[in-house]
Amino acid sequence: MNFVFRGNEILLRDSDLSLPDARWCAWAGVPVDAFHPLWLTDGCEDFCAHVGPEVEAPPGFSFHRLRAVLAQLGEQGAAVSRAFQVSEWVRTHRYCGVCAAPMLKSNTELCFHCPSCGFSAYPRVSPAMMVLIKRGDQLLLARHSAYAQARYTALAGFVEAGENIEEAIHREVLEEVGLRVRDIRYFGSQSWPFPHSLMIAFTAEYDGGELRIQEDELDDVRWFGPGDVLPPIPAPESVAGRLIRANLSPDLLLQL
Ligand SMILES: [Zn+2]
Repeated sequence: MNFVFRGNEILLRDSDLSLPDARWCAWAGVPVDAFHPLWLTDGCEDFCAHVGPEVEAPPGFSFHRLRAVLAQLGEQGAAVSRAFQVSEWVRTHRYCGVCAAPMLKSNTELCFHCPSCGFSAYPRVSPAMMVLIKRGDQLLLARHSAYAQARYTALAGFVEAGENIEEAIHREVLEEVGLRVRDIRYFGSQSWPFPHSLMIAFTAEYDGGELRIQEDELDDVRWFGPGDVLPPIPAPESVAGRLIRANLSPDLLLQL
């Protein structure tokens, strides 16, 4: 399969969102040496490439916004996530970050080596946490101000250098909504390739504090429980959607 990215877009056939084969890639003018194998196994048949803004889609294909179509790609979504991250890593590691010499790609691992100073660069993965705070049969859901028509979802934020993930949860919860939490429990995780996050989701119990909103990040935060009207929540394909659905009270679940 060929994964061709242009900025934050992926080349897909319009009729069924399938990936282009080599013939269509050649039609679009994507050079063969732009493709990088997605896996290190012998006979790898999955390749990814990042193309410039001047590249046009061949007939019947379009460049689709990756963020918009990722959930529709089903089982192929994981391979698309990897392909986007590998192609971004290739695009941004042509030169050594230490001595600026051209980098060489390893044949035995997903790694660029600098032949001049020995520096190595691997694809970066940035852990982020998501936490759904529970108080009895109520859940705390927030709407982010960065996105117009955003859904209500769990709190989330990046793990900072030097932190463990529990510390990141306590810090983000206190910063964003002014609360303390306890009984942090792992729920699940999801690769989030924008550009290279791993979203790790948890539940936690409310442990005190008065609700207050960090207004530059959130525009509404509320407890939702029995008797409330359920607001729009993330799709079930996302870890956020699964996390919230797994913890909704029965009457809110019926509103989906
Ligand atoms: Zn170097």
